[in-house]
Amino acid sequence: MPPPGGRLGPGYLTDEEKKNRPKVTKALLKRIFSYMKPYWKQFGLVLLAILFSSVMTLMPSVLTGKIIDEGLIARSMSSLVKYIILSFVVTFAANLIGILESYLNTWIAQHITFDMRNTMYKHLQKMSQRFFTTNNQGDIITRMTSDISGVQQIITSTLTSIISNSITLVVALVVMFRENWILALIGVIIVPLFTIPTRSAGKTRWSITKESQACSDEINGILNETMSVSGQLLVKLFGMEEKEYSRYEAVNKKMINLNIRESMAGRWFRMALNTFTNIGPMLIYLVGGIIMMKYDSTVTVGQITVLVALLGKMYGPVNQLLNIQVDWIRSMAMFTRIFEYYDMPVEIENSPDAIIPDHADGEVEFRHVRFYYEPDREILKDISFELEKGKCIAIVGPSGSGKSTLINLIPRMYDAIDGEVLFDGVNVKDLDLAFLRENIGIVSQETYLFNGTIRDNLLYAKPDATDEELINACKQANIYEFIENQETGLDTVVGNRGLKLSGGEKQRISIARILLKDPALMIFDEATSALDSISEQKIQDAIEPLIESRTSILIAHRLSTILAADEILVVKDGEIVERGTHSDLIDDGGVYAQLYETQFSKAAVKGEEKFEYTEGEDME
Ligand code: ATP
Repeated sequence: MPPPGGRLGPGYLTDEEKKNRPKVTKALLKRIFSYMKPYWKQFGLVLLAILFSSVMTLMPSVLTGKIIDEGLIARSMSSLVKYIILSFVVTFAANLIGILESYLNTWIAQHITFDMRNTMYKHLQKMSQRFFTTNNQGDIITRMTSDISGVQQIITSTLTSIISNSITLVVALVVMFRENWILALIGVIIVPLFTIPTRSAGKTRWSITKESQACSDEINGILNETMSVSGQLLVKLFGMEEKEYSRYEAVNKKMINLNIRESMAGRWFRMALNTFTNIGPMLIYLVGGIIMMKYDSTVTVGQITVLVALLGKMYGPVNQLLNIQVDWIRSMAMFTRIFEYYDMPVEIENSPDAIIPDHADGEVEFRHVRFYYEPDREILKDISFELEKGKCIAIVGPSGSGKSTLINLIPRMYDAIDGEVLFDGVNVKDLDLAFLRENIGIVSQETYLFNGTIRDNLLYAKPDATDEELINACKQANIYEFIENQETGLDTVVGNRGLKLSGGEKQRISIARILLKDPALMIFDEATSALDSISEQKIQDAIEPLIESRTSILIAHRLSTILAADEILVVKDGEIVERGTHSDLIDDGGVYAQLYETQFSKAAVKGEEKFEYTEGEDME
């Protein structure tokens, strides 16, 4: 993989980069160009600025010759002062233009990255749950941040470096050859010699940098895992502090060694460069001196000085231009990777002629629905059921039987592989996505709250809700008492992912949030995690009136919740094995009855009215 953005390496490609050399097609270039096109005026200005500043930075070198020949050697005070002032003015102007150039450059680069980041964010928002469950969160963030930042560097450095270095080089060569062709020729032969140590030192340095990047990623990984709320909890509960510390210390140690090596590689690199840059001028002085003293007395000291000065200005550009091809390939790879993300198909998309009904009843029907995450493991097999307006279905079944998967198909978090999911009689794939999701409210097992206040979290469902509405919803969700007892009331901060609240409190806040949303279909994925009986009762009291008044689906674990439903679906291994009311199912004496006998009565003895399955438990 090419190095992450913002850290373009020196002038050679790694084996992997060579292997994955991007195909630079006309279409790719056109696509890259399309991001630059809106800023063509600014690009034009940059070009002009580069042109001026590159020529002007060379001027003082040329003027040095005049200062020596016409000022110092000719002993003319006026010429001396004139050229010195001119030199000063030109340098000043060149730097001034340089500032303008870098401002424009940064401006363009920032705007292009801004556009690209926004496009990426918007695109990723459309990606399905599958994308987010399959892709590592870190990878997504890396593409969003470093990869796109890499683009910034391409524009501010690669692109301008090609232009400015070429100009500097051409102008320097023309002036040198005009001054003295023999000395210029020597210069041309010498310059490539300087680039050899630069390149080989750069190679070593780069391989160390890569190692330290990997090391730094590892450190970040450890920090991410162990310095998070849940991670720390796990570390503490399993008493792994020492082990985690030594893991961290070991990587940290590796990192400092790499840093020391990297810094030393830099030293050698500078030493080599210094030696060579010192030898170059000496060679010109020597050959220039020989020519001047033995063969051609018209050659002046000033000319020799100009050549030495211009030679000095050529190292940088030659070196950079030699690296350009690599930068170019790397840039193309970076763009290719960004575009790869852009081109990822949107799995769940609004159909072009999506239907937007004027109201929703929340009716649901599954017709022979099949679903899998991975083709080799079917999760739902031929699921069919119907939920009428105002009715309530309870889904029960062992953990992993596919209950959450089933309800995720209704708001199209995933699409059924086969069969149809209908909402109010219309296939969900034909309905407007926004309409569909607006009319479905899910209180999931894992309640997610953003880090903010209770109010912020509630307003997420209805941004324009009044305080009265918020309080009403909280009262109905049985959480108002808790909020009232907080010093800051609705403005109480819930903490990172709501972790400052208990599981039951979070769930009741999420019920209040759903109440504000007021959906036609209400789905409640009852938490399997143990809540104390008071919390459970409070949640129960909150959801019961909800079920009464609207179409709802409950993934139920508590008997009282199950009893509140009009129909019970027993799901096992992705199939509905039984259906009916509680009394029907008990009478049938099947799986449900058995479950009721073994699980519920056991729990009832312990005083927990909980319909709980233990993992791997067989229901037959
Ligand atoms: P529980 O009662 O424990 O919540 P459940 O009945 O809701 O369980 P699901 O969450 O629907 O079960 O999971 C059904 C099966 O699908 C499980 O075996 C699970 O491992 C698998 N599964 C769930 N989500 C994914 C996913 N995103 N990718 C791949 N497999 C998944």
